[in-house]
Amino acid sequence: MSSSKKSNREIDLSDFPLGSVTEYATLVCLACTFDIFTTQLGLAPRTAYSEIRKYTPTIAELSAPKATPPFFDSEETRPHCPYCNAAKRWHARFDTFRIEGGKPTDAARRKLIKSLPKTDNQVEVMEVKSDKRTVFFEWLDTLLGKVDLDDEAWLLETARAYLSRFEPTTDWTEIFAGLRAVRRSSRLLEGWEKDGSRLFLTPVLYNEVVIVQYLVSRSHVSGGRTLEGRLTLNDLIRRLRFGGYLEAKEISSGDQFEILEQLLEKLSGGSGKVKLYYIVDRRDFIEKVKSVYARYAN
Ligand SMILES: [Zn+2]
Repeated sequence: MSSSKKSNREIDLSDFPLGSVTEYATLVCLACTFDIFTTQLGLAPRTAYSEIRKYTPTIAELSAPKATPPFFDSEETRPHCPYCNAAKRWHARFDTFRIEGGKPTDAARRKLIKSLPKTDNQVEVMEVKSDKRTVFFEWLDTLLGKVDLDDEAWLLETARAYLSRFEPTTDWTEIFAGLRAVRRSSRLLEGWEKDGSRLFLTPVLYNEVVIVQYLVSRSHVSGGRTLEGRLTLNDLIRRLRFGGYLEAKEISSGDQFEILEQLLEKLSGGSGKVKLYYIVDRRDFIEKVKSVYARYAN
């Protein structure tokens, strides 16, 4: 980064295991927002300004896979508001970081929160009680929003995402650099091993990658695509049974949906409680609200 102002603002997440933090970014249109407060609610610009300034979106608004008005997502460098066509100077950005509570993150989280600016509600920290299963489904949703199922690379990206979750302290970005294939190895007793451009996983770990790929792609048009090719739920279960996964994980028999339910229970870690910490960076929002108001008032 060339600008020192910008780097001072970065929230430093380098102390966290990679798989423990999820980042969300969303844009909010301030032209739409001021319009709601002044036209629809009938507030004077000055009142609207002080109300808007205090505002922090809900976690659902900040982390939704698909944004709803006045929020929107855009990959463009000069986006226009999809609702009112306002140009970039009317947009503010919220960056949100979700940290999964627990032993691997507690110390780093306390240190980070201590280091954040305290005045003017520039950065807000919210605590939410959740459970492992919900966190797992949210993780799947986020993953689905990130990968492009029409591009073969998603198979490796999904493998990397699952491994980052499974073993958060390993730098998987480095391990996946130059990687061309992920394979099962019955020779391996635990974990994984990289050999050139191939990554070998124990059968259990490999099967879990395949299950996650199935879960991510099952609702897509040509659904259920994995490192093992295209699979229906029945195909998947048959493979898991023959491969010894169901037995290794003590998954009892039942119909395919009962088995899927048990697989989800195992992969997600079940109903155990988790505390989630959302860190919402409001600094860009506060600045933009101020400059937009200055324009409004003149
Ligand atoms: Zn707008």
